[in-house]
Amino acid sequence: MYDVIILGAGPAGLTAALYAARGKLKSLVITGPMVGGQIALTYQIDNYPGFPEGLTGPELSDRFKAHAEKFGAEFIEAEATSVDLASNPYKAWVGDRVFDTSSLIVATGMTHRGLGVQGEDRLMGRGVFVCATCDALLYEDRKVVVVGGGDSALQEALDLAKFASEVTIVHRREELRACRCLTDRALIEPRIKFLYSTVVEEILGEKRVQGVRLRDLKTGELKVVDTDGVLLAIGWNPNTGLLRGEIEMNDSGYPKTEGVKTSKPGVFVAGDLIDRNYRQVVTSCGSGCAAAIEAIRWLEAQPSH
Ligand code: NAP
Repeated sequence: MYDVIILGAGPAGLTAALYAARGKLKSLVITGPMVGGQIALTYQIDNYPGFPEGLTGPELSDRFKAHAEKFGAEFIEAEATSVDLASNPYKAWVGDRVFDTSSLIVATGMTHRGLGVQGEDRLMGRGVFVCATCDALLYEDRKVVVVGGGDSALQEALDLAKFASEVTIVHRREELRACRCLTDRALIEPRIKFLYSTVVEEILGEKRVQGVRLRDLKTGELKVVDTDGVLLAIGWNPNTGLLRGEIEMNDSGYPKTEGVKTSKPGVFVAGDLIDRNYRQVVTSCGSGCAAAIEAIRWLEAQPSH
């Protein structure tokens, strides 16, 4: 029986584990597919406070994990297969193993949508990336293709244009979906170019991205364009399938929350699932901390505790 189970081991889950374990909760982290979450895919992290020399995503997540373990957090490096939040103690399964818990912190994050083209998975973290704020410095004076036509694509392109020599937005339709404010800024930025009605058919390169094969959807013409990076900005899906029917969610699959609290007592959310605006390591750590503090307060208020 655990005081808290934390689903997910990105910055939010690992920080929640640190705070919960240091707060003397018997804590179990069920990590999901990757310790570190999205930062496990980020080569260089330059903007996490306290590390002026920078460090890699895997190094930072190893440090987060070691810090939580130091205070007694337990880890299962596997994916939770289901949860039952009908009554307390809540239950979480990993295959046929079941774990009981008084409270739950969901920090399962989001998965970036993929193009499903050749080269994408193989070159992820080697030129294929999903966050300009995280990786833009790596593309100083280099060329980057940004795929998508929504707010993310335009925002990321504008952030990249401060560093890159050329940013090409490749969008499958003739019209952008992004808001006027971002579009107007991008249209006058000399380093940003637009290719409309165009899709990426393949990402090219041996060890790192070297180019993309593009198809013009109007003419059918195929061409290869040299690039050093491909930023995917075609949207994100929340990793909340496990919670369907267990807590209230909106139509897009995000938990309905008040701060870090969900519709279910003792069930909290942290990380990207409650932050569609900043999505930084440090903001995820902040909400992981908040979720753990709320879990501690909630447990202390229970008569049985
Ligand atoms: P989004 O609005 O869903 O846009 C995704 C874009 O990717 C669309 O242009 C879409 O094309 C394209 N796309 C989707 N699947 C594709 C595929 N398989 N191949 C090629 N293109 C594909 O997602 P988002 O831009 O990440 O924004 C998500 C939410 O966050 C929005 O509510 C947005 O307002 C918000 N956001 C706000 C800001 C800001 O205010 N600064 C910044 C980032 C995000 P179509 O247009 O053809 O569908």
